[in-house]
Amino acid sequence: QPGEERHEFGAEVGRLLDLVVHALYSEREIFLRELVANAADASDRRRFEALTDSAKALPDGAKVRIHPDKDARLLTISDDGIGMSREELARNLGTIARSGTRAFGQDMAKLENAKPEERPSLIGQFGVGFYAAFMIADRVEVTSRRVGEDKAWRWSSEGQGSYTLAPAERDLPGTDIVLHVKTDADEFLEPYRLETIVRKWADHITWPITIVRDGNDVAANEGTALWRKPKSDITEEQYTEFYQHLGHMFDKPWATLHWRAEGTIEFTALLFVPGMRPFEPVESTRESRVRLHVRRMFITDEAALLPPWLRFVQGVVDTEDLPLNVSREMLQATPVLARIRKAVTNRVISELRSKSKDAETYAPFWENFGAVLKEGIWEDHEHRTEVAGLSRFRSSTEQGLVSLADYVGRMKPGQEAIYYLVGDNHDALAGSPQLEGFQARGIEVLLLSDQVDAFWPERLDRFDDKPIRSVTQGLADLSAIPLTDEPADEAADVEALLPAIKDALGDAIAEARITDRLVGSAVVLAASQSGPDLQMQRLMRRTGQRMPG
Ligand code: ADP
Ligand code: MG
Repeated sequence: QPGEERHEFGAEVGRLLDLVVHALYSEREIFLRELVANAADASDRRRFEALTDSAKALPDGAKVRIHPDKDARLLTISDDGIGMSREELARNLGTIARSGTRAFGQDMAKLENAKPEERPSLIGQFGVGFYAAFMIADRVEVTSRRVGEDKAWRWSSEGQGSYTLAPAERDLPGTDIVLHVKTDADEFLEPYRLETIVRKWADHITWPITIVRDGNDVAANEGTALWRKPKSDITEEQYTEFYQHLGHMFDKPWATLHWRAEGTIEFTALLFVPGMRPFEPVESTRESRVRLHVRRMFITDEAALLPPWLRFVQGVVDTEDLPLNVSREMLQATPVLARIRKAVTNRVISELRSKSKDAETYAPFWENFGAVLKEGIWEDHEHRTEVAGLSRFRSSTEQGLVSLADYVGRMKPGQEAIYYLVGDNHDALAGSPQLEGFQARGIEVLLLSDQVDAFWPERLDRFDDKPIRSVTQGLADLSAIPLTDEPADEAADVEALLPAIKDALGDAIAEARITDRLVGSAVVLAASQSGPDLQMQRLMRRTGQRMPG
């Protein structure tokens, strides 16, 4: 070709290409994420330059166009972005000295030291930028015209040591990336396959993305990045639509939280508390699936942006404080995510607190997700008390749901603890003989029937300075509290019976003793004050755990 010059790649490019090309793997589809992201970046940069130079303004209908051509085995990704000059092609695609690749050296070392079978997923996580194209192509041609210049240039390479540069034709500024698709990568010539990838990885790129299917340009992305718009520009319908799209729900969100954090850490969050329980049970995975975006680009939904006990919350967090090609290792180590997590968690808690003030509004939320939220009392040392405050319970004396604060406000003179009874279902609890002594004294008992209820009371020592105690845990000290109804019979002398009971039951019980807890029934099974609660003992037996003592 006239004017064609051959150049060697920089040394690091050679290293990277070698790894990329030889890692045949399942995550190849990320090449499209990389190329579409570059196209969108280039369009953003052109828009930015046009702010001060209107001659560079983007054409109407500017977009990213994906064009698979099965017969020619070509896949072309085109944009109306800023384009590259000859020098920029050589510098940007011939060496690695780029923006988003600060940690490149370390990443490369890690890649090279990894076992071959581990490399694929590592590469997928690192993001390899433009060179990812060589995972599915055995030749890549980039035709580009820099905005403000009249000449276009073609960069071309087989990804092996060198590339060529030659003058080319392009009517308008922008870039075409032409991939000569490898014979084992046919799937990437299928419009439907490409569409799926775009939806998964680039749905929220704000530039329109189209895919040529049957000769037509078909829109492939929603393209709104709704969370980036000011609240005042968003209608309730739009929020609902986005929520439904995001979580595959068809109801309305119970709560919508949309805010922008500015300061030491910058991010935008749009979160939803669902109005119903999702089809996929919230028990199926314990990790939060809130999506992490960096500059609108979807990065992962496995960044655990909220603690497990808030895993029912859905939505997006979008930050500028991370590089686009952030790796999984980096995600685990970076203080940025820890700060975002903290801020987001606190915000959700305060939203729940404010909504909890209206019992009627709060009740459906509690029915849907209360059992999940209570896990926080058990496992989240930092937020335990707050979660306890947000929790609601059934009780032996009240209709509807009560909070611990309500309970404390109703405690009887002389009552020192908050009492609860755990069991498998509410009706059985409500009729339990364990309650008799409490009922006779008008003392409220929380009736707990969720699985997690067997666990959390152990961890929450006190609430509002009142100890929390199971009614089955030894002798609740009820004698200081007067009966509201006098029992019909005088207590008989049952002391003499105790040794006979102990004899009959032997090792099945630790001791037999007289209790204030019963009024109508003769005998009740109690747990010792120091050991696990009765329901806890049952669970431990069921799961084959040994009991202490
Ligand atoms: P990164 O995007 O992290 O900088 P890439 O390997 O994806 O790394 O791209 C390298 C560089 O090539 C980009 O920074 C950009 O300058 C340039 N580039 C890639 N694709 C395009 C494009 N479609 N239009 C303009 N410039 C591009
Ligand atoms: Mg890139």
